[in-house]
Amino acid sequence: MSTATLTPPSKVKIGPTKLLINGEWQAAASGKTFATINPATEEVIAQVAEGDAADVELAVQAARRAFDEGPWSKMSATERGKLLFKLADLIEANRKELAELETLDNGKPLGESIKADLPLTVMCYRYFAGWADKIHGKTIPINGPYFCYTRHEPVGVAGQIIPWNFPLLMQAWKLGPALAAGCTVVLKPAEQTPLSALRVGELLMEAGFPPGVVNIVPGYGPTAGAAIARHMDVDKVAFTGSTEVGHIIMKHAAETNLKRVTLELGGKSPNVVFADTDLDAAVEGAYFGLFFNQGQCCVAGSRVFVEEKIHDQFVEKMVGKAKARKVGDPFARETMQGPQVDRDQFDKVMGYIEAGKKEGAKLLAGGGRVGQKGYFVEPTVFDDVKDEMKIAREEIFGPVMSIIRFKDLDEVVQRANRTMYGLAAAVWTKDITKAHAIANRVRAGTVWVNCYDVFDAAAPFGGFKQSGLGRELGEYGLQAYTEVKTVVVKL
Ligand code: NAP
Ligand code: MG
Repeated sequence: MSTATLTPPSKVKIGPTKLLINGEWQAAASGKTFATINPATEEVIAQVAEGDAADVELAVQAARRAFDEGPWSKMSATERGKLLFKLADLIEANRKELAELETLDNGKPLGESIKADLPLTVMCYRYFAGWADKIHGKTIPINGPYFCYTRHEPVGVAGQIIPWNFPLLMQAWKLGPALAAGCTVVLKPAEQTPLSALRVGELLMEAGFPPGVVNIVPGYGPTAGAAIARHMDVDKVAFTGSTEVGHIIMKHAAETNLKRVTLELGGKSPNVVFADTDLDAAVEGAYFGLFFNQGQCCVAGSRVFVEEKIHDQFVEKMVGKAKARKVGDPFARETMQGPQVDRDQFDKVMGYIEAGKKEGAKLLAGGGRVGQKGYFVEPTVFDDVKDEMKIAREEIFGPVMSIIRFKDLDEVVQRANRTMYGLAAAVWTKDITKAHAIANRVRAGTVWVNCYDVFDAAAPFGGFKQSGLGRELGEYGLQAYTEVKTVVVKL
């Protein structure tokens, strides 16, 4: 492993480790804490207050008061927007420190935290800041002597449960639209990566958000998370994570107050490479589309369908790139891939690699652990993967690529759709007809043509089928935080 370290982990500023409730940093009611681990070294970074149902109760009460009695609901939309712009400025001003914290807690290469996570986070808050004073209804010409109009009102208290793969960015996707719309929030970061969310909590206070508007309760899913999803005073729950937990969240909502539910869940995204494509661009796109962020992306292009005619060339190039990928210290300048986020994810990924071998896929690169300490996995490429194999069906969430052969368009559309997921897809071709056939016929929330992983705060994102419910980002994402009220006035 490398030595050219950008910032030594011991120099990273940690920030708050308590719960943020009603503008105050508090210990958990139970007094409990849990350790957050540096996945590159397996060492404890810090002990963090472990919130559970009792703390969620206090947080919901604070959010409820800030929503029902003000000051948040009495503040003008322009003021809300200004606060969000201020938050974006503060995050930008502290981007180096936040990027380091993100890398320390999550393990992603520091260069990527700096170049991807931070700018996208800032862009997301600015995008929604701009929306705050542009949310309005319509006047509708109904029959009779009536004046009819709609108001787009905030949905109320939003419970938000986020994952560990892009902690700062997932927080921005949740807080941005909620606050722009005028909601108040109780947010639970993932147990693996609570630190950057808490530091943003500090910046929220510095920006001047009133107490209770954003409450942050780190803790575990089945306790703190479930308490949010079950709470009668939470009006909406927004969740990003596994499809399995997505089902649980919806059940909690159904069994309690029918709170509104939006879900961003897993995927098994097909990336279709036709023979007529620019081969190098397709190899690069498929490589990035799978290995980016240690393969821990809900949109990871984990089923790479390659047209038979170019299969051998494609595989040779991909294997070369995978073998050249530098795995190691996420703080080192030349590192391209850091560790998986924790021991569970590491074991899960290694289990899938074993399943691939056992079911007869051809292992052409990687397959093992890197080093003795930290959760590092070799960039792994399987060839001759069949649709029925476990590695072609289940979400791996790691640096494991499955290359699958195909012959023609109709066949590949059918096979691409043979999954319970429908989050994303991509196609590589110079033929506009084939590009649109994939774009129109593959059932997925996002389709990339001759590109991969292109995200923008303005472009809606979400899943078909069991990849989710509703959309985040863009105007559609904002709508998920409003209720439409119809007002009819007799003239
Ligand atoms: P997960 O359990 O779905 O975690 C996501 C969030 O939900 C975390 O904050 C988690 O808390 C919380 N949670 C867990 N159980 C809950 C419950 N019963 N009620 C309410 N909230 C609950 O995902 P994971 O265990 O971290 O990862 C497992 C797999 O999920 C991954 O291998 C991957 O396939 C998928 N995943 C998908 C995404 C995505 O972006 N779509 C992100 C992460 C993971 P804890 O912190 O306590 O777990
Ligand atoms: Mg979990």
